[in-house]
Amino acid sequence: MKILVLNSGSSSLKFQLFLLPGLSVAASGLVEGIGEATGAARINFADESGREKTLEYQQPVSDHRQAIRLMGELLKESGSFSDISEIAGIGHRVVHGGEKFHEPVLIDHTVIETIERLVPLAPLHNPANLTGIRVIMEHAPDIPQVAVFDTAFHQTMPEHAFMYALPYEIYNKLHVRRYGFHGTSHGFVARRAADYLGRPIEELNIITLHLGNGASAAAIRGGRCIDTSMGMTPLEGLVMGTRSGDFDAAILFYLAREAGMDIDALDRMVNRQSGLKGICGENDMRTITEAAEKGDDRARLALDIFCYRLKKYIGSYMAALGGVDCIVFTGGIGENSAVVRMKACSGLEAMGITIDHERNMGCRKDIMAIHSDDSSCAILVVPTDEELEIARQTVKVCGIRRENS
Ligand code: ADP
Repeated sequence: MKILVLNSGSSSLKFQLFLLPGLSVAASGLVEGIGEATGAARINFADESGREKTLEYQQPVSDHRQAIRLMGELLKESGSFSDISEIAGIGHRVVHGGEKFHEPVLIDHTVIETIERLVPLAPLHNPANLTGIRVIMEHAPDIPQVAVFDTAFHQTMPEHAFMYALPYEIYNKLHVRRYGFHGTSHGFVARRAADYLGRPIEELNIITLHLGNGASAAAIRGGRCIDTSMGMTPLEGLVMGTRSGDFDAAILFYLAREAGMDIDALDRMVNRQSGLKGICGENDMRTITEAAEKGDDRARLALDIFCYRLKKYIGSYMAALGGVDCIVFTGGIGENSAVVRMKACSGLEAMGITIDHERNMGCRKDIMAIHSDDSSCAILVVPTDEELEIARQTVKVCGIRRENS
């Protein structure tokens, strides 16, 4: 039997097929350009002799319905499955669970209605997630589907961490509060870090730094999130590829008055034209690091701002937690950029946090410890795997006995 994991975004559908009982990956793929003029569908899988293979089609994809059909065809063509009855459960990444969902849930009509009601909080993401769920429900109503929420892990934040100092009524009436995102990843890497250190997570204070195109930090005490850097939307907090992270909200009023910018232009600016891209015109950390090394001043500035913000969050979360046992770097940048890790930790030696430069330069696909022997806190690089975590949660929620599968 198999578990299928779906991540449907506004214009893309990522999928991964796992084999039970071990949850090894049988195939993974992507349908992109949904609703756009040009589209593509791709699947990576291993053939019978174990060789890595790719099947790819370039064709327009009109909507998510067609995207799911294409995914089914690619899975069949690759030999990854021959019949839908082989699927024991389907896990969906759902971006916003609001205050309703604290953990993954089995999807039924009530769950769908609740996710629908949360659309105003995530207008780009929740509708795409829902389409994926509905199309599967129509075609294969007997397969159990599970929703795994990006926000759920952060629902343990105390009130003083999730409330904004804004009029209380807008929380009551309009649900304006901090929710946090990337929760599946923060939870996954925190548990892996505790396993690696051989200590119960209940005893540990952990700061996790998920640094990809989107970036967020979380403060985790005893396995429960007590604070995170993203807020009501994924805009708040760290500097990101194209998002500003924290800034003075009054800048928006100033730009509206002085530059005549309307709400759409301001939204575009802070979400798509800011962050690393806004500073140096590039949002790929590899390109930025290379340019900075060659003496490009703007690239160096973008890197400096990114790492300085990170360091400030590490410091503030140490204060929030009352000390830290382990700092975890993950995501495309966290897992691969030794420069970012080094700059984010430099200057923290007075607080007992010391990185080992040689270990930090190491390159492994697995967990890597990069602190020096005299550091009071472990610093780990932990590859994240949100799809695997969603597959595990799906198995758990569906009550699938892995040893018997
Ligand atoms: P997403 O948030 O889209 O899942 P990823 O977690 O894949 O993003 O991270 C993408 C980021 O990781 C990009 O900024 C990319 O430049 C960066 N990245 C990937 N490999 C490296 C590397 N070797 N060195 C520095 N940055 C890297």
